[in-house]
Amino acid sequence: MNIKAPRGTQDIVPGQVEKWQFIEEKIRDLCRMYQYKEIRTPIFEQTELFLRSVGDTTDIVQKEMYTFADRGGRSITLRPEGTAPTVRSFIENKMYANINQPVKLYYLEPMFRYERPQAGRYRQFVQFGVEALGSADPAIDAEVISLAMSLYKDLGLKKLKVVINSLGDKESRQAYRNALIDHFKPQIHEFCSDCQNRLEKNPLRILDCKKDRDHQLMKSAPAIIDYLNEESRKYFEKVQQHLQALNIPIEVDPNLVRGLDYYTHTAFEIMSDAEGFGANSTLCGGGRYNGLVEEIGGPEIPGIGFALSIERLLAALEAEMIELPLNEGIDCFFVSLGDEAKDYTVRLVHTLRQAGYSAERDYLDRKVKAQFKAADRLQAKYVAILGEDELKRNIINVKNMATGDQKELALDSFVEQFKRL
Ligand code: ATP
Ligand code: MG
Repeated sequence: MNIKAPRGTQDIVPGQVEKWQFIEEKIRDLCRMYQYKEIRTPIFEQTELFLRSVGDTTDIVQKEMYTFADRGGRSITLRPEGTAPTVRSFIENKMYANINQPVKLYYLEPMFRYERPQAGRYRQFVQFGVEALGSADPAIDAEVISLAMSLYKDLGLKKLKVVINSLGDKESRQAYRNALIDHFKPQIHEFCSDCQNRLEKNPLRILDCKKDRDHQLMKSAPAIIDYLNEESRKYFEKVQQHLQALNIPIEVDPNLVRGLDYYTHTAFEIMSDAEGFGANSTLCGGGRYNGLVEEIGGPEIPGIGFALSIERLLAALEAEMIELPLNEGIDCFFVSLGDEAKDYTVRLVHTLRQAGYSAERDYLDRKVKAQFKAADRLQAKYVAILGEDELKRNIINVKNMATGDQKELALDSFVEQFKRL
């Protein structure tokens, strides 16, 4: 067959999927502890949503969106990120009127971006993200960062770096914007065409350019820190103070601006420091977006969130050579000998499953030795052996594969006795 999975996508097959499930469970556990509730939004949205929120000077909008006209002629886009849909749903469902505030949401869903596929970069990838809407308390900025860090640390990652910056409020950002325009304008013709477009529209994005990152004007660019007004500076200090209290070491990077247009105040990235991790070392990115809800047509409500992909998380685990403690192996495998015994195990395997155990039997009419091998491959904790002789005596032999101990259990109370093993 010649048909392959589309470029930039991957199948997650048994053997791999267990890792995903393990991580997904961890995420759901963490979100319960931090009190973030799951939200599931459509895989596609009206294109307009992303144009308005993500911003037309970003890579996402300029070259990465899967946009098409549906049969009714509407412009539809496969969701490239989770914040805009979450905020759209927040507004549409009037969650700002909920009794419980702030509204803390999380999503764990596939995203789609037309990118050049490479290690850690796919066209369909799964993002876990959180959004806390309705609070402008710096404590929640720290909470959001600590949630992401907890996930990585709980999974065993050690070589992590948290990089943080403040983009200030509207006023600070405006002052900074002007300073950047003054800085780049005289030599903007030496920059890529994207940057030339960005100069007036969104000069902060120039700092995030991957093509021009080595231009000498990048290093000498003014730093936002020097343009923060009093309030913004205080906010940033408070966030750092909270993170210190949570024992999360941080690095302030004045050039961290992130790709999206709607960020205010806190911007952060979590990177892997592991050797050989490669170019795409950012595991998680996030920040505060106090202007976004209004931008999408809702009331003036502050928000903060992050997004990380499971693909890069898995790559980081691999780079640090961490094996997840997967609970592989089944509880019991039935080895049977003779037609009558084989028939009998149809019922036995069923009763054991009904009692909540994972159980398997032979379906290929294999010899006893091959059945034992199958049990080994499935990492069976117990192997139950049933032959004509056992059937006659109304018993079954159960072997503990770890210790080698063998016990005879009565067939008519098999499940009860198995429970006691
Ligand atoms: P990059 O600079 O690597 O393109 P980004 O700024 O586009 O990242 P965000 O939109 O902030 O990334 O997404 C948050 C996180 O999602 C990233 O830090 C990264 O871990 C992950 N991510 C982004 N794009 C992809 C992709 N194409 N494949 C896998 N993971 C991705
Ligand atoms: Mg990108």
